[in-house]
Amino acid sequence: MQALLDKLRSVAGAANVTTDALECEYFAQDVYSRSHSAAAVVAPGDKNELAAIVRTTTESGVAVIARGGGMSYTGGYVPSEENAILIDTLRMNRVVEINREDMYVTVEAGITWSALYEALKETGLRTPYWGTLSGLYATVGGSLSQNSIFFGSGRFGTAADSVIGMEVVTADGTILNTGSASQINASPFFRHFGPDLTGLFTADCGALGIKATASFRLIPELPVQAFGSFAFEDHPSMMQAMSDIARQDVVTECFGFDPYLQQQRMKRDRLANDIKKLGGVLKAAGGLGKAIKAGAKMAVAGRGFMDDVKWSFHVMTEAHTEASASANLQKVRDISEKHGGRELADSIPRLVRANPFGPVNNMLGPAGERWVPVHALVPHSRAVETLDRVEALFGECSQELEEHDIHTGYLLATVSTHCFVIEPVFFWPDELMEIHRRSVEPAHLKHLTEFPANLVARETVASIRERLVDLLKDQGGVHLQLGKSYRYREGLRPETFALVQSIKKIVDPGNRINPGNLGL
Ligand SMILES: Cc1cc2nc3c(=O)[nH]c(=O)nc-3n(C[C@H](O)[C@H](O)[C@H](O)COP(=O)(O)OP(=O)(O)OC[C@H]3O[C@@H](n4cnc5c(N)ncnc54)[C@H](O)[C@@H]3O)c2cc1C
Repeated sequence: MQALLDKLRSVAGAANVTTDALECEYFAQDVYSRSHSAAAVVAPGDKNELAAIVRTTTESGVAVIARGGGMSYTGGYVPSEENAILIDTLRMNRVVEINREDMYVTVEAGITWSALYEALKETGLRTPYWGTLSGLYATVGGSLSQNSIFFGSGRFGTAADSVIGMEVVTADGTILNTGSASQINASPFFRHFGPDLTGLFTADCGALGIKATASFRLIPELPVQAFGSFAFEDHPSMMQAMSDIARQDVVTECFGFDPYLQQQRMKRDRLANDIKKLGGVLKAAGGLGKAIKAGAKMAVAGRGFMDDVKWSFHVMTEAHTEASASANLQKVRDISEKHGGRELADSIPRLVRANPFGPVNNMLGPAGERWVPVHALVPHSRAVETLDRVEALFGECSQELEEHDIHTGYLLATVSTHCFVIEPVFFWPDELMEIHRRSVEPAHLKHLTEFPANLVARETVASIRERLVDLLKDQGGVHLQLGKSYRYREGLRPETFALVQSIKKIVDPGNRINPGNLGL
């Protein structure tokens, strides 16, 4: 290990290799769990340093694991063995090229979605999918490795659907190009050239290689935005409305809350926060007249407009003209009405769109409770039934949940025209980990309760979460963020898993890149 660390220092510079015990422990914990600490955290400055670090580490027989913004909660970068080297990709955060003529952007994998958004802002262009709600910290590399959804997903799908090429470092330090850039004379302007090697490395949870750069196609930012929010008495009618809207292909984002999550959200966003965010809404409205209208609408609605709401969903739509944005929203209204929805003030989607990459305070409950989501992607036809089964499981566990003050809610969303996301979420009183302290805004943290360690509640959440993961597999659900939490291997047809294993053997024969992810 000492010899390896010396070599890593000579590659990355001593200042970019840390063996400090507390730092190694911090980098090795995710938002939900921790296990082994790391032997060292190494931060490469570019792809050549990254390649040398990977080669040197695997040659020594030591495990090497990439970490982006650290915003995940499925054990993806939590080491499964002692003495692993963690690669902190955050120094690799440059925009390599914005090509307006050929309509693509190439970035280093450690750039955050927020930084990419800022870099593209003045160009009038953007990537079709453009980031997660955690994008203040979450990186392009982490999000492609787990696959992710949110901004733009209603029309353009996941992060993996927008990427057209990558440079990936495999276990022996090879820097592999995928997509058109793998043609010896070509640039990264197109994804498919022979088998889709870009796809091979997306959603691999970093088990097949470490992403150094990624290229995305660009589209024009559409100038007109419209928003809508709707209340429902029960989840089947709301979910059917969301599915019908998704099928129409008219919204860029569509997300919903159950009564519990909604209440939490309204509690968490204190008024001061709303006012700060309102500045963003006014700026985003485009033009003084529109700003006044948007501001007035929100001021009239105030915060009480959600008080008697049970289930609610929220949409954003974008278009070239006012007329087509209004037509999109009218479709949403008609569908909601057909399913018994009631229109609400549109403050929530307006706030979310105007301040896309805000602080990640939602990684804790409103009083400082711990938080962990589980999710499944299902076809529309199985969405309501899946949520009903999850509800039934929570019903079976109600005594345990109540006894340990564990609360549950749901975040719902649609992706493109063909996918429904169901995300049950747990909250429970428990002590914070270092990652929460470093990620949540200090001003917000100050107002939270410091709960003592609560092992019983923690273990209860873990065991119900396991049952939930089994249930979602049985429902035929698939997942983003596989990490070490879902039943990928167990749920996969054996011949498919055998192929994944064979590929792993070629790119990482010694199983030294992120061992344990994807059940490998
Ligand atoms: C408050 C909050 C809000 C969130 N909102 C969303 C949301 O809207 N949508 C969503 O999909 N998810 C969301 N998430 C989950 C998470 O933030 C995302 O999955 C995000 O994409 C993770 O990116 P990251 O850079 O933090 O990855 P990390 O957590 O650092 O890593 C994730 C995985 O990718 C691997 N990895 C990281 N970088 C690389 C690389 N360069 N090469 C190879 N492997 C790599 C790691 O080993 C790990 O397996 C949220 C999380 C929080 C805490």
